[in-house]
Amino acid sequence: MRRFAPGTEVDVVVVGTGAGGAPVLAELAAAGLDVVALEAGPFFDPFRHTPDETDAAEINWMDERLSAGADPTAFGPNNSGRGVGGSTLHWGAFTPRPDAGQLRLRTQSGQGRDWPLSLDELAPFLLRAEADLGVSGPAAYPWDPSRRYAYPPAARNASADRMADGCSLLGIRATDAPAAVLTRERHEHGQTRGACISCGTCHQGCRTGAKASMGTTYLSAAVRSGAEIRADAFVHTVETDAAGRVTAVVYRQGDTDVRQSCRALVLAAGGVETPRLLLHNALANSSGQVGRNFLAHPATQVWGTFDTPQRSYRGYPSSLITEDFLHPTDADFAGGYLIQSLGVMPLTYATSLVRGGGLWGDELMSALEAARFTAGLGINGECLPSEDNLLELSDEIDRFGVPRARVSFTAADNEKALSRHAVAVMTRILEAAGATATRVLERTAHTLGTCRMSDDPSDGVVDRYGRSHDIDNLWIADNSTFPSALIANPALTQVALALRTAERMLAPQP
Ligand SMILES: Cc1cc2nc3c(=O)[nH]c(=O)nc-3n(C[C@H](O)[C@H](O)[C@H](O)COP(=O)(O)OP(=O)(O)OC[C@H]3O[C@@H](n4cnc5c(N)ncnc54)[C@H](O)[C@@H]3O)c2cc1C
Ligand code: SF4
Repeated sequence: MRRFAPGTEVDVVVVGTGAGGAPVLAELAAAGLDVVALEAGPFFDPFRHTPDETDAAEINWMDERLSAGADPTAFGPNNSGRGVGGSTLHWGAFTPRPDAGQLRLRTQSGQGRDWPLSLDELAPFLLRAEADLGVSGPAAYPWDPSRRYAYPPAARNASADRMADGCSLLGIRATDAPAAVLTRERHEHGQTRGACISCGTCHQGCRTGAKASMGTTYLSAAVRSGAEIRADAFVHTVETDAAGRVTAVVYRQGDTDVRQSCRALVLAAGGVETPRLLLHNALANSSGQVGRNFLAHPATQVWGTFDTPQRSYRGYPSSLITEDFLHPTDADFAGGYLIQSLGVMPLTYATSLVRGGGLWGDELMSALEAARFTAGLGINGECLPSEDNLLELSDEIDRFGVPRARVSFTAADNEKALSRHAVAVMTRILEAAGATATRVLERTAHTLGTCRMSDDPSDGVVDRYGRSHDIDNLWIADNSTFPSALIANPALTQVALALRTAERMLAPQP
């Protein structure tokens, strides 16, 4: 890997190497720019990943965050990653595309918020993202017949089989899910990614390289093009000149503070750390929108108990999808949801039983005894922006001298109605498949929306390309820019947005 002396000014510094930062880094490096990525967490060799859930927490962001509101969001393993590759170290690699309606929520429903860009503008970048990651999927996608996937679908797990049984009996369309999981070996960027071996430990890190992470895709490409990645480098300060433009960042590596000068800065630290950094440095907030409108997808699960062992923890988890409920005709809420099959490891399941099911003591122990007989379904649903859901700086200071984030989240009536509808549908599917009992586990997923994009500078933090409305050499490329949550899980869209941001950065500037 090329090394830049910290004293030298580089063209661009990228803070964070997840689904937003990595594609930007790769694109800028490929264009010949001098680029350095600063990543708070360490490098992980894929062979170091372990299926042991306790040890695997090393790939999660485990620093303390304060969670508030009536439905406080779960941090730790449920939330974001820390390490080269960011949350794609532990993500599920489930990659549905958003449809046009999800980006036009306000126009369609009178609620929520439209995105300042259309699906037509995003589509070429979604296709590029799928090609770069290596996405598998069905030969015919029922909700978009024109769609083609490069790899055949991953093998289904037991939850997917039960979901397919139930959907077919109820007349609900379901098919193999799009997943950034290779089903054939692939050689690129000087490495080999293996085919999926159905081990089921995606959330603990994939040891074969079958699951796309930023490390096995864009970051490998970036380094080969001359980018430098500095790991264990936590950025805490952004310096600006008298005109308010960014000149440098300061990061802590070990016990040492290091200054890195740059001509432009890309913040890609995720939906919690990017607004935290901006609020701490009092930057890019003339709109007052930094930290506002925190969004978390309703991700309610229903688990069914069957007479025969299911062992849903085996196999690629999210192997079946239905998009029949993106815009339900009988809905008393705005937006909709998709349903996916589930597979979780024992500790994750136990945690969800406690946190989302309220189980404890003997009841918890007997639910755990029955775990191998269960198959589960979960949703990813729309979340409307709300003034009450926000990220602020608390008065607790961390070891870097930065106030810890306090994130408040309360599900509104829309999310509650959506979740009720989804629970009824998922229960019907599991019962049709033969479940003798079902259990609902409430949860939310993902951290979005705290530096939203907008055309109007008074109403958002960045423009439709991710450029700060206030500071022309500051860009944001992460989930914080989402104006509404979308129904599609966020990472594919995030990669696409990042590729679009990079293209804009490389275009002749006005
Ligand atoms: C359990 C789980 C499963 C998921 N599964 C899916 C899925 O199947 N499909 C899907 O689409 N999405 C999934 N997601 C969500 C997906 O991973 C995220 O949407 C996506 O990775 C977000 O990209 P990002 O660039 O915003 O942030 P991240 O990928 O989280 O990257 C942010 C990076 O910035 C670094 N960083 C933060 N602060 C600093 C700092 N101050 N200095 C230096 N570095 C810093 C972090 O260490 C991290 O590496 C999942 C998430 C979770 C928690
Ligand atoms: S199930 Fe497949 S994609 Fe997931 S960790 Fe195992 S090999 Fe990797």
